[in-house]
Amino acid sequence: MDKTIFEKILDKEIPSYKIYEDEHVYAFLDVFPITKGHTLVIPKKHSRNILDCEAETAAHIGAALPKIANAVKDAFNPDGINIIQNNEEYAGQSVFHLHFHIIPRYKDKHINFDNLEVKWPPQKLEAADFEEIQNKITSKL
Ligand code: AMP
Repeated sequence: MDKTIFEKILDKEIPSYKIYEDEHVYAFLDVFPITKGHTLVIPKKHSRNILDCEAETAAHIGAALPKIANAVKDAFNPDGINIIQNNEEYAGQSVFHLHFHIIPRYKDKHINFDNLEVKWPPQKLEAADFEEIQNKITSKL
């Protein structure tokens, strides 16, 4: 099986804006962010999605999520945060390595999560914008 793009990120074959790393978990900025601070959290051990992951993998991710979500909150003071995880194509999964989206929500930016046929409209950001966002979040960890 070909590696997914997230396994290539873990193997440093392609770059990412790293937010957090421990023995089991890696987090980085989504390159097509829905809102400012949109972060992805993935296990280092491969599974396709939540349906085939081991309990231990889920536990490692579960332990990391509050830390990272709170850093995103402290960095941008959003009005709320969604944590979303898609399983299989029909449910919106496009990368087949388990991942959790941390999506800060701002009152002035409505997002229609119901319509998965139309991909969420991403923000367009430059490298400097990503670096600024990365620095803001990592400074809160
Ligand atoms: P999903 O649709 O739940 O599978 O989410 C996959 C996410 O990965 C999407 O939000 C993409 O914007 C994001 N994505 C795809 N390629 C990359 C990449 N190279 N670096 C960071 N995020 C990516």
